[in-house]
Order: sequence, then structure tokens, then C-alpha cells
Amino acid sequence: MINARDLYKDFGKLAVLRGVSLEVGQGEVVAVIGPSGSGKSTLLRCLNRLESIDRGTIEIAGETLAASGSAGQSHYAADADIRRICRKMGMVFQQFNLFPHLTVLENVIEAPLTVKGLKPEQIIPAAKELLCKVGLWDKRDSYPSRLSGGQKQRVAIARALAMQPAIMLFDEPTSALDPELTGEVLRAMRQLAREHMTMVIVTHEMAFAREVAQRVVFMDRGEIIEAGLPEDIFSRPAHPRTQAFLAYQG
Ligand code: ATP
Ligand code: MG
Repeated sequence: MINARDLYKDFGKLAVLRGVSLEVGQGEVVAVIGPSGSGKSTLLRCLNRLESIDRGTIEIAGETLAASGSAGQSHYAADADIRRICRKMGMVFQQFNLFPHLTVLENVIEAPLTVKGLKPEQIIPAAKELLCKVGLWDKRDSYPSRLSGGQKQRVAIARALAMQPAIMLFDEPTSALDPELTGEVLRAMRQLAREHMTMVIVTHEMAFAREVAQRVVFMDRGEIIEAGLPEDIFSRPAHPRTQAFLAYQG
């Protein structure tokens, strides 16, 4: 579903991605771990074109988002194609990013209304199903400011799912939450994994990564240092940098 090869990305003089390749199969759950500043968020943001890559190739569900030209520089698909391809991916951020002036239900139906041009009656049944699934249908008329962090994040997940993405990208969805609120968000993600949603999850929740991911990718300083089965990465990391990182995580 995701085939990213040899991605390079600089911010000014800072090389943030240095030859990162990531393949994610249909229904696969991949956890990305690594120290702060290692490029995890940048990698996710490049996959859905919130950032541009300098070099490399990105294919999403068999379609080319960006490809390397002969001079090494990446060339992107036409704008309309980029929008269509990126709509296959839903993203959930650390900071929820809900629309504060819209209710929970309005947040969930906003993109299908404006982007897909559907009518409310066409999408409310699906929105209801999604909000029931994350346990928030009874909060449908509340504004985000009246919700807990865990509730906001579950709305953000429902809102991303409302566009019926084939892939979900999560960037540390629980790290802005108090520990007692992370469980409810992880539960929603665990449920998605059980339904075989293709997911890339940047997380500091090692126990969750170990439980839910089929593959764990360790990034450090813009490179994938090591990738493998959760039990291998967490129990017998091969690379000294992975060992040091995991020892530090406790
Ligand atoms: P964290 O675990 O703290 O979220 P991360 O692995 O997600 O870290 P990134 O956010 O991808 O790391 O950042 C990688 C590097 O790129 C950092 O040094 C960061 O300061 C830098 N960086 C990220 N975004 C930008 C930007 N828009 N402009 C300049 N530098 C940036
Ligand atoms: Mg980050």
C-alpha cells in the first residue's frame, strides 16, 4: 500500500531524511519508533505530501505520488492526482487538530461534505457508526473545548475515517494525553488494527507497538537503523543505537 524508496529531505542545512525506504503491505500495522528529532514526523508528513521530499519515490496504493527524475530530483504527480492519492490516507496528529467552531458530528462530516460534496443525509449514518465505534455518539453535539484529550483524539480518528481512507497515519496520537486517557485512544486503534486497516503509527508507547504492530521500524538521525518483528526489535535489538534507545525507554 505504501512503497517509499530512498527518501531524502533537507530543512536548510539539516538533513532530516537520509535515504529512508519503507514498504507497508495491505492490512499491515507498522510502528515507527526513535528518538526526538530523528525524522519520524517528517517521514509521515512526506508520505502524504504535507512536506515535500527532495529525492526518492513514493507510491501509494499502486499510484505514483513522487518519482525520482534522471537528475535525482523528485517530481510530483499533477496537483489533482496528488489530492486524489493523498485522500487515500487519513492522518491523526498529536495535537488533535479539530475544528474548534464545529461540533463533534460537524467535525466528522466536514471533509465528506466539502471535499466529496456529499449531502449530510448521505454521510450522517456512516458518521454515526464511526462515532459509536469510538464511543462518542452521545457527544455529537458537543464542541471540542468541552471534551477531554482522549475524547478529542477519538473524534480526530473518527473524522479521519469518515473519508474512508485505505491507510491511516498516526503521529504520536497519545503523547499529548494524560496517562489515564491514552488507553481509550489505543483501544480505538487496536480495533482498527483488528479490522485490518493499514496503519503506520509513530509512537512512544512501546508496549502498544509491541502488541499491535506486525513490524517495528527504528529511526535515528534520518535513517532507518533497524526494522523487524516486534519481538526481535524489543527483545533482541541488533544495532547498538536501537539497544541504547530501548534501554533509555526503560
Ligand atoms: P519527535 O519525536 O520530537 O516528534 P521526530 O522524530 O518526529 O521527533 P521531526 O519532527 O521529523 O522529528 O524532525 C526532524 C528534524 O527536522 C528536527 O531536527 C526538527 O527540528 C527538524 N524540522 C522538522 N520540521 C521542520 C521544519 N518545518 N523546518 C525546519 N526544521 C524542521
Ligand atoms: Mg514527531
